[in-house]
Order: sequence, then C-alpha cells, then structure tokens
Amino acid sequence: MSLATNEPGVSARLDIDLGAVAANWRQLDAMHPGETAGVVKADAYGLGAVPVAQALAAAGCRSFFAAHLAEAVALRAALPQARIAVLNGVFGHDAAVFRAHGLIPVLSTLAEIAQWRAQARAAGRVLPCFLHLETGMNRLALPVADCAVLAADPTLLEGLRVDVVMTHLLAAEVPEDANNARQLALFSTLLRSFPGVKTSLANSSGMFLGAAFHTDLARPGAALYGLNPTPGAPNPMRPVVTLRAPILQIREVGPGESVGYNGVWRAARNSRIATVGVGYADGYHRSLTNSATACFDDTPVPLVGRVSMDLSTFDVTDTQARPGDWLTLLGPRHDADALAAQAQTNGYEILTSLGQRYQRRYFGA
Ligand SMILES: *Cc1c(COP(=O)(O)O)cnc(C)c1O
Repeated sequence: MSLATNEPGVSARLDIDLGAVAANWRQLDAMHPGETAGVVKADAYGLGAVPVAQALAAAGCRSFFAAHLAEAVALRAALPQARIAVLNGVFGHDAAVFRAHGLIPVLSTLAEIAQWRAQARAAGRVLPCFLHLETGMNRLALPVADCAVLAADPTLLEGLRVDVVMTHLLAAEVPEDANNARQLALFSTLLRSFPGVKTSLANSSGMFLGAAFHTDLARPGAALYGLNPTPGAPNPMRPVVTLRAPILQIREVGPGESVGYNGVWRAARNSRIATVGVGYADGYHRSLTNSATACFDDTPVPLVGRVSMDLSTFDVTDTQARPGDWLTLLGPRHDADALAAQAQTNGYEILTSLGQRYQRRYFGA
C-alpha cells in the first residue's frame, strides 16, 4: 500500500460506511412498532450530519434531532421534507428563525413555551412543538410541578400543537439500574396530562430495555454509528468507522531507551517503533498514552509513550510493518468503544472528538 492518501497533504483516513448507518437504522426500526428518528446532533456524533442524515432519510427515516439551532438550520438545507426537532430548545434564540426554517423546538420551560406561543400568535398560525418532561435527569426538561401548571391551564399551550412529549433516560445502558423503571413510571403518570399526544422515551440503549420502553418515537443516536447500545453484551450493531494512518517512520530503539515526551515508556528489548501522523489534536486522546491498541493487518500493536499533538508511536516489533504501511487505529476489530475503554471515556466522546484533519471518505450510500 502506498503512503499517499487520495487527498494531498492529508496523512490519515477516516472511512465512514453510510450503508452500515442505514442498516443500523433499519435494524432499530424493526425492533418496535413506533417510528424511529435519527439523532444527528454534534455533526452526527462527529461523522458528518449532512451525509449521515441523507443516508438515514434514504433508508426511511423521517424525523431528526439536532441539539443546536445552527445544526438544525444546516440540516434543513439538506433535508427539505424532514421533521427536524431542536433538543436544546428556543431559549436565547430568535423564535422566528425556527419558524422560517420549519424547525420544531423541544420546549423545556414555561418561559420557552410562552416564547413559542408568542411566535405562533405573531405568525397567526398554530406552531408545532415537542415537550421534554423531567423524570430524573435534572438537566433540560420541564419540572414535574410545571407539568401540573401546564395541565391546569390549557391557555398556556394556546396556538401550539404538541406533537410529541418526551423524556430521556439517565442510565439506559445499565438495564439493572432502578432509574429505568422509575423514570418509565413517572413518565407514564405525567402522560395522563397529555392524552392522545405521541410519546418518545428511548435512546439507543433504551430501545433494548424491552417493550415497556417502546413508545411512538424512538430516538437512537449512538447505535446508528456502531456504538454498542448493550455494553457488556456483544455489540448488535454494524461497525461504521475505520480510521487508518500510514507509518511515517520506523525507529529502532534498544533496551532502556525511551520514546516520546517525558520518556514515559522505555523499551525492554530491541524494539521497532512506528510513528503515525495522528495525535490528540485529531481526537486521539492524550489519555491513551501507554494504553491504546492499533492493528497492523490483524495483529494488535500497542501504543507506546505519550500521545503528542500530531504524532503517536506504536510498538511494531512483532510485525513486518514498514514505513508507508497502514495502521488501523479504529476499526471493526478495535472499535470506538474499545478505544474509549483505553482512554477512560465513552465511545460517544471518541466519535465526537474525531478531528477535522482526516481525509473523510463516505461509501455505501
Ligand atoms: C443524545 C440524545 C439521544 C440519543 O442518545 P443515544 O444514546 O446516542 O442513542 C436521545 N435523546 C436525547 C434527549 C438526547 O440528548
């Protein structure tokens, strides 16, 4: 294999399998009778919101969640027909921008509801919204007491059409966590104030908690991108991401010699050290120092020494690797969840950290 990527000046390649994203969405959609949205916030978890959302739409996905207004506006340009909801809501924004782009705010305070109601009045027409109800996350949702206020006074929702009432599980990836049942019970109680309104509960992991957690609209993100929604059990999703980088140089170091900043790794034997042009500025976290694994063909090769900004070093002593050969930093055999465990974070942070310096190639669309 040659050193050069297709794009001049780029020294690592991120391959994103949109066919696998679509297959993952279809697999999740087949798990329940309701509708399945696609959560594409944070640039579709770092993979590229527009190409990912287009692949999801082609697979049949009709509803999308962004976090920020700006993300939703960009998404709207690519998906003129889709239903696009904005998780972080309308507070602090010009509500007219939501209306101009046909975006649905997820409302989580009485003040936001009033703001959106004023927009409906100004527009002279009914505007759609989603309501996010608090059941335990205590982050961004309508407190239980405010739900009661809303239920007691129908004028508070005048001019608005509540399309979906939702809540968000705080520990869905831990099936035995008592919060799951507790949140489900509270959500069911709160829903009595919204008869006939469509409901939305499960994220990726929540979809695997059983039929009780299946609602009218599932909101998977992570599982679409190949992260394991059932940690501790085999990953039921297809891998989506491959990150590969060519070896720039191979250094021979003798016993006792160190590699990288501060000499935090020392060779115990005559070693061959491969350097690749990927570092923490590329989302290859510094906390991987002395603990990550890459693959040369199918052989695992350990990262040795500090991850630096633009370079990382791997012990390829037990392989035939040569300069110009490629190491796989993320792939089916060593995925974002595995790398996350080595970086002491989660797969979400690995994906959303993937840097902008890679040559990104999309295929399978
Ligand atoms: C991010 C998010 C999701 C998607 O969660 P995953 O674990 O990635 O499936 C769903 N709902 C809300 C409110 C979120 O913030």
